[in-house]
Amino acid sequence: MNSKVKPRVVIVGAGFGGLNVARSLAKAPVQITVVDRRNHHTFQPLLYQVATAGLSPGEIAAPIRSILRGHHNVEVLMAEVTGFDLDRRVVETADSGIGYDYLIVAAGASHAYFGHEEWERFAPGLKTIEDALEIRRRVLLAFELAERQTAAGEPALPLNFVIVGGGPTGVELAGTLSEICHHALTHEFRAIDPARAHILLIEGGPRVLPAYAEDLSRSAQEQLQRLSVEVRTSTMVTQVEPGAVRIGNTRLEAAVVLWAAGVAASPLGKKLGVAVDRAGRVPVQPDLSIPNHPEVFVIGDLAAAKDQHGKMLPGVAPVAIQEGRFVAKLIRHEIEAKKEDGKGNSRRAFHYWDKGSLATIGRAAAVAEFGKIHISGFIAWLSWLFVHILFLIGFRNRLLVFIQWAWSYVTYERGARLITGSTDLPGWTPDQHSTTAEAARQEIPTGAAK
Ligand SMILES: Cc1cc2nc3c(=O)[nH]c(=O)nc-3n(C[C@H](O)[C@H](O)[C@H](O)COP(=O)(O)OP(=O)(O)OC[C@H]3O[C@@H](n4cnc5c(N)ncnc54)[C@H](O)[C@@H]3O)c2cc1C
Repeated sequence: MNSKVKPRVVIVGAGFGGLNVARSLAKAPVQITVVDRRNHHTFQPLLYQVATAGLSPGEIAAPIRSILRGHHNVEVLMAEVTGFDLDRRVVETADSGIGYDYLIVAAGASHAYFGHEEWERFAPGLKTIEDALEIRRRVLLAFELAERQTAAGEPALPLNFVIVGGGPTGVELAGTLSEICHHALTHEFRAIDPARAHILLIEGGPRVLPAYAEDLSRSAQEQLQRLSVEVRTSTMVTQVEPGAVRIGNTRLEAAVVLWAAGVAASPLGKKLGVAVDRAGRVPVQPDLSIPNHPEVFVIGDLAAAKDQHGKMLPGVAPVAIQEGRFVAKLIRHEIEAKKEDGKGNSRRAFHYWDKGSLATIGRAAAVAEFGKIHISGFIAWLSWLFVHILFLIGFRNRLLVFIQWAWSYVTYERGARLITGSTDLPGWTPDQHSTTAEAARQEIPTGAAK
């Protein structure tokens, strides 16, 4: 590192982890380059609201440039990182290499289909704004197609919505979809009754929200059932096909299938030359650096970091945020110490402060776990609302989301109900519908509403 020029810090990914490194280093004597393949930061905890037409994309995402515009030592590059040359200390993108003194890789995770990537076309997952808009498109289109077919006297699309995976994302999608069917869309259709739609949540394990205490999982399941969601636990989906899922020999028709069952870390983890775990996460040292490269840190969903008791830290926003701030502080101290004695100081280990977990289920329905304190229902939902509005990036977004929420709480309205893009629905568009209807006649699903 040349002592005359400011050390260069390159941050890959402007999610919760990366942004917090950049912001926390903003006043430090470093030059920072933030590289992200998108031009915006997405507040992922509210993606389900975009997917269910409660909020618009601009209310939960913000341009990275505008978030960091006040930090004059930060430059933002929109580019896809393709690899790293750790010996030469270079980050590789499609059209250039970016040199660094410190590198922070915070590229996050995406959904995983357990080796069945071909299922993604029929069962989108929820990770990006594009995913959320695709889910919104399919959900709203299903109602339109069902109305049109029924009005024309044709055999109608069965309004079954199947959500695979009973973690926080599956639970919030199921609860909110039910709310749409039972409230937001009532009185708007003439040929169909949206309230007769069937929401099925399928979980492979014995309970929903498996990361939460058992009493909260039970409560979440009861709250879902009160919202008319059918919950099937200990049930494995064995096949996803256009317009249907299979559970062993049983075929369940579905107007829309959503995938919330698995997570895989960014493929960039493998490019760091260290052995990754089964989910593709990079095992990091206690200071969040990788072995033999104290100048390279991995944080957030991409890191397999452990707490002080050796337990793996969960892939949640507070972990990424705290890790980001920790690494920024470490780099700042190291640079300042090097200036004074030329050596730098010995590194502390990262300790996660777990402030609790919240999962929303639907209108006035949620669970919250703060250590031994477990809360369900309206109070948990209020806490969820407060925390999520507070952490949303940008005052404008906070205000808009608060107003939207208050409005939709009173009126049940979901104002972002726009169908944009294609009008195809896998398995149900005219050319494919005959095949699906034929298959359906041969095998009518059990427990699924027509
Ligand atoms: C639907 C959903 C709901 C969630 N709800 C909650 C919740 O309620 N509470 C909670 O605490 N957590 C929640 N999470 C988890 C939380 O969002 C993640 O733990 C957090 O975003 C991780 O932060 P990160 O910085 O590691 O990655 P991310 O926030 O995912 O950011 C990664 C960034 O890296 C960029 N990137 C990736 N690959 C490349 C590349 N090759 N080149 C350049 N840039 C790249 C991406 O564009 C992205 O901007 C939710 C996640 C999802 C998907």
